[in-house]
Order: sequence, then C-alpha cells, then structure tokens
Amino acid sequence: MLNIDTTDFTGKKVLIRVDFNVPLNEQFEVTDDTRIRAAIPTIKKVIEGGGIAILMSHLGRPKGGPEDKFSLKHIVPTISELLGKPVLFAADCIGDVAENALKALHNGQVLLLENLRFYKEEEAGDPGFAKKLATLGDIYMNDAFGTAHRAHASTAVIADYFPVNKMFGYVMGGEITAIDKVLHNAERPFTAIMGGAKVSSKISIIDNVLNKVDNLIIGGGMTFTFIKAMGGKIGASLVEEDKLDMAKALLASAKTKGVTVHLPVDAVIADKFANDASTRIAPVGEIPDGWMGLDIGPETEALFDKVIQASKTILWNGPVGVFEMPSFEKGTRAVGDSIVKATANGAFSLVGGGDSVAAVNQFHIADKVSYVSTGGGALLEYMEGIELPGVKAIRS
Ligand code: AMP
Repeated sequence: MLNIDTTDFTGKKVLIRVDFNVPLNEQFEVTDDTRIRAAIPTIKKVIEGGGIAILMSHLGRPKGGPEDKFSLKHIVPTISELLGKPVLFAADCIGDVAENALKALHNGQVLLLENLRFYKEEEAGDPGFAKKLATLGDIYMNDAFGTAHRAHASTAVIADYFPVNKMFGYVMGGEITAIDKVLHNAERPFTAIMGGAKVSSKISIIDNVLNKVDNLIIGGGMTFTFIKAMGGKIGASLVEEDKLDMAKALLASAKTKGVTVHLPVDAVIADKFANDASTRIAPVGEIPDGWMGLDIGPETEALFDKVIQASKTILWNGPVGVFEMPSFEKGTRAVGDSIVKATANGAFSLVGGGDSVAAVNQFHIADKVSYVSTGGGALLEYMEGIELPGVKAIRS
C-alpha cells in the first residue's frame, strides 16, 4: 500500500472512493455537505499534486438501475463550490461514457462518476464490475470509511486490481488512526461511556471494550436492564426483559477483567415519554410504578465527571438520556462538557456512533473533543473487533 502524503500524483489517474451519500431536498439541493467537505483535502492533495481525481460514490438506495433522483449530477455544483473549481461529470461509472469523459481530462482536473449503485453488481461485490472500474485509474484510493464495513465492488473487491497502487485518503486514514489509537494504544486510565437505547444493540461492542478499558460508564435506556438485573425497581423505564441474564453476565465479565463499571445512581424520572412530562429526581433503583428514567440525575453527573476527569483516553458512544427532548438533555450535555474538560487537560477523546455525533453537534462541542468519527456502522463494527473489508483490502 502507498501513503497519500508521500506519493507523487503527477500525471496519475487516481480513482477515489468517496462517501458522497448526502441528503438532498426536493429541489435536489444538498442539505448537509459535511461528507463532501470532509473529502476536499484528499481531492486537493491529488489535483494539486498534478494528478487527475476520479470520484466514485453511491447515493441513496437505487433499485439496481438508473433513477434520476439518485443521480450524482445533482451534487456537482456543491463539490465545485467547495473545491473552488469546475467538476466534470460522467453519466455512467463504467464503459465508454466514463472512458470518454476521462480522455478529455488534464492533470489537476476532477471527474465525478455516476452513482455506483445504478449497477446491482456494486453491492454484490462483483469482480467483473470492479475490474471495469479499476481500468479507469492508475491508483485506487479509499476515502469512504462509512462504507468500509461492506465488501462492495468499489470499497473492497476493486483493490485486488491494485496490488501495490492503493492507499487510504485523509478521511479514512484519520478515522483508522483515531480508532486504532483508542483500541490498541490507549493511554490509561481508559474509560468507555456507553449509552443509547438498548443494550442488545451494544453487546458485542461492550464485550470487546471490556478487554481494553479500565472503566465502563453505562447510561441511557440500557441502564435499566442492568438495574433490574441487579434487583432494582425501574418502574416503566425502558427494559429488555430477555437480556437480564446477559446484563448480569456482562457485569460478571467486567469484574473478572478488572474493569470498574459505573452505573447511574440517580435518574430524572418522568410520568410519560414526552418533553412536557412531570419530572423529578429519584434513586435509579427506586423508580415508582408508572414513572420512567429518561436522563441521568445530578449525583450521577458528578460521579461520571470524576471518572472522566481522571481518564487519559475516553471513548463515547451513545447519549445518556433522551437528549432530543430539552427536558432530558442535561445529562448528555454534562457528559459532553466533562469530556471537553478532560480533553482540554490532555486526554484523547473519540466520539462516535450516530446519536453521539448528533449530540456533540447539538451541544456545539464537536471541535472540542479529539476526534468525532462519522463512521456510524463501520465504526461500531471496528469497535467490535471486526476487521473491516475496506480496511483489509488496502492493507493486505
Ligand atoms: P442508540 O441508537 O442505541 O445509541 O440510542 C439512542 C437513543 O437512545 C436516543 O434516541 C435517545 O433518545 C435514547 N435514549 C437515551 N436514554 C434513554 C432512556 N433513558 N430511555 C429511553 N430512550 C433513551
């Protein structure tokens, strides 16, 4: 594999798999350009180095054939604007149309190929389709971490046709470096904060992080499955009855591995799942019938803060309360503030997983933590200890 910083791109056609799966409104305008913005340094590196950037991506979920509403032509103006130069478009990602568009290009230019998923072969990981894409470039670069957990033609299979001339772009390289630092090179104490709705969706991650962390902080809806498993009274709080034994097993496993588990001690309880509910603070294991815990309480905020301030590495996945409702956002905001403070004092903090990213954006602290992963499902699988096909394809 090659390194983006040390490669000479002069005269090279660089096939870059980007993640331009961005939301569009009814006028087909990009409503959130975060993913495009993220890829700009990678594209600039190639074209300013004298190469030709050929961008390939998927958009939405077309049913295996061309559909105008999923055409990547809609996002050309946004890429051009962010890049500060014209971007050419090929109305097909393979074949004569793509090849002819490419022939007209000069060094320093950018070509966007049509939606890869207009071919069902893309998601099927078809080697013939991957080969056709591969013929377009001299170098393959993967910068789409968000799809790295899928063995699709453009994210993994294509790398077979570039035994040496393959590399990560800055987005993907940055994600991998940040996650590897946390999972394999963490300075101690290392604390993982796991929140979110259900423990069932986080079991594999918790299992994996238990092998790495010193502290496990648990918050959010999953709290109550643990509290009930320990004999607490949780009222009408969210619970997964069929996961009580598993919660006990996780606590036992943590103990064996020398991990300290910090569960909430108090909760903001509500008489209904609504922002205008009546609320009060209660011990987490003494919630009256009909009431539900929707956020951590003040004592828990202080307890979690103490653990977070003493940490040198922090991994945060999942809100500790129903942060979408103003009445129940305080705990998640407090955890975010604690992480910001610890980061300012030298800790490395990685925030990832859909809802935690939404939370750091809501509280405007994305630039005050060390790294916000936009990887979503890919990040979660990486944290479970799974080798991602898109990462393996470049490294092998
Ligand atoms: P997840 O996608 O599993 O990370 O879950 C995120 C969701 O968990 C968010 O939409 C939160 O509103 C929700 N959540 C957090 N705390 C609670 C709670 N105590 N009860 C119910 N839902 C919660």
